[in-house]
Amino acid sequence: MLDLVIKNGKIVSSTSVFEGDVGVKDGKITALGQDLRAEKTIDASGKLVTPGAVDTHVHLEMPIGSYVSRDDFYTGTRAAAAGGTTSIIDFVESTPDQSFSDALRERRTLAEARSLIDYGFHMTIGPEDLDKLDQIPGIMKEGCGSFKLYMAYGLHLDDAQLYKALSAVGASGGLPVIHAENWDIICSLVEENLAKGNSTPHWHPRSRPEVFEAEAAGRVIRIAGLAGSRVHIFHVSCPQVVEEISRARAKGYGVTGETCPQYLLLTQDLYDREGVEGALPVCSPPLRSDNSRRELWQALGSGLFNTISTDHCPFCREEKGADLSAFNRIPGGVPSMEVRFSAIYSEGVAKELISPSEWVRLCCSEPASLFGLKNKGEIAIGRDADIVVFDPEAEWTVKAEDLQETAGWSPYEGMVLKGRPEYTLSRGEILYNRGEVSGEKGRGEFLKTGDWG
Ligand code: MN
Ligand code: MN
Repeated sequence: MLDLVIKNGKIVSSTSVFEGDVGVKDGKITALGQDLRAEKTIDASGKLVTPGAVDTHVHLEMPIGSYVSRDDFYTGTRAAAAGGTTSIIDFVESTPDQSFSDALRERRTLAEARSLIDYGFHMTIGPEDLDKLDQIPGIMKEGCGSFKLYMAYGLHLDDAQLYKALSAVGASGGLPVIHAENWDIICSLVEENLAKGNSTPHWHPRSRPEVFEAEAAGRVIRIAGLAGSRVHIFHVSCPQVVEEISRARAKGYGVTGETCPQYLLLTQDLYDREGVEGALPVCSPPLRSDNSRRELWQALGSGLFNTISTDHCPFCREEKGADLSAFNRIPGGVPSMEVRFSAIYSEGVAKELISPSEWVRLCCSEPASLFGLKNKGEIAIGRDADIVVFDPEAEWTVKAEDLQETAGWSPYEGMVLKGRPEYTLSRGEILYNRGEVSGEKGRGEFLKTGDWG
């Protein structure tokens, strides 16, 4: 006897949509068909049944300068579950005298105690970590299959360092994930703008031009080619990066790309709001023009992107507004974790810019397959019963006070979205049921990434 059947829904996979029942036993999907019976039933008539969404780019309780990002592994994963996300990949950074393995253990301990959903990690390789490259095969065996390389911020690598790190990751078959921006140019433009008294958030996107995000992406793709590695470009914010990726692919480079809801729903005019309001949406790469935003949707429609993740990294109003004397002092990052799956349905599927299967491919299936999360990302027999019952007709207004996220504000505040999860299941357990989140703190399990076999 099955434990649970989700009946009469429209099952959305990354390649097709079909009607049927999904049967769950012992946390796995064990049956797909008609007229399945079980002890417990969820009626999904008129609803979509999708795989649990996979968010491969989140920063929970991440120390940045003197701040720690809001949402710890508990509040963040509650928010994820409420939004239909059942797996996340966060980050590990090691201190100079710490091995990758010890750093992973430390970060795992935090998540283990708190996470409601399953979680994995990217290992960060900063300039101080280049003598640890021989630890890559070992850390991959421990379940870290992807490696974060920065081209911006204090952790940025220069071209020689990128080449060295990409060669090592490539030789081990790992997946490098890249923050691509030209740090030297950004520093020059920030300095120039501040010297002229251009200190408001209006100048944040103007100090990080699209063309130098594209230049950095193009450069790292070529360096990866030289190093014999594939590469995944994080948070593509604009069409010029899309062009770089598409041109490189045509030439045979192994490159994949991610974009995020903030670049698909929001625009840079938000930075012109008064006081802290203009500071709230500061993130990097920055929000771009409305034309850029529209072109990103076109690129999604033509299949250029592989994943839509959030880069969820929130700070509260007080932190965002603590020092408004210069735009580069504002802690960067926005919350998107709870809204992502609905937002992409609403603005993408409901507006017919992408198909329901593309939505599932970008938010669930390809994030799982690209990062080697073998039991996630599809409604298929033998996979984990990570499932969302999604009401495509539900209209709702985003209000920070109604969200599980703890930043206390949302960049999507006031937006009316179409479509919302009714139920979210993780390994067969209902974690979200029409407005209520449940499940034991710490029930989430460590996910090994990099299982591409
Ligand atoms: Mn980044
Ligand atoms: Mn990030």
